[in-house]
Amino acid sequence: MPFSSGEQELIGLDERGDRSIIGFVGIGSNLGDPLANCVDAINRVDSSRGIRVVRRSSFYHTEPFGNREQDWFVNAVVEIRTILTPGELLHTLQSVETAMGRVRGGEKWAPRSIDLDILFYGQHLVNDPGLAIPHPELHKRRFVLIPLNEIAPYVIHPAFGVSIKGLLSRIRDESLVKIISEESSQTFGTL
Ligand code: AMP
Repeated sequence: MPFSSGEQELIGLDERGDRSIIGFVGIGSNLGDPLANCVDAINRVDSSRGIRVVRRSSFYHTEPFGNREQDWFVNAVVEIRTILTPGELLHTLQSVETAMGRVRGGEKWAPRSIDLDILFYGQHLVNDPGLAIPHPELHKRRFVLIPLNEIAPYVIHPAFGVSIKGLLSRIRDESLVKIISEESSQTFGTL
């Protein structure tokens, strides 16, 4: 039976726990109050239909990648459970970005009020126009792998067959990633 994404289904999902997918979403911001933007985005994702945030990493101050002539980012990664399809999940995350004032279509490395990327969707590989999972850059970026390693070191990258910990040990990126507070990682309510 195809997934349907009503609230009733989500309650059923929470009790059975057998129809959801575990995913990881990267969060980033470097405009306005970046930390507040990240917190706001996580809360919006957690209250979206068909998605629950299970855990989040600490927040990190990270040196901009690509265009270095801009403010540092705040980044984090959250673990989610979802009954949405990959396309529905992308659509929901883009709706959160738009609701938070993200203007699409700017240059690739431009400053942004909020950026939400699907890193993993279970162990699925997706290669559609406009959606690639695992995110094609995640293994190259310390600002993704460091928070991901904090909450999911033993998750295997399904295309490379290597753990997050293993990817981090091989990375060439040397940009700075500084934890904001070691106490700031958080487990959300039980599903
Ligand atoms: P960005 O400017 O980095 O937020 O890139 C946004 C574009 O990347 C969107 O138009 C998406 O269609 C596309 N995209 C491809 N794969 C992903 C993914 N795994 N997560 C989020 N966006 C993705």
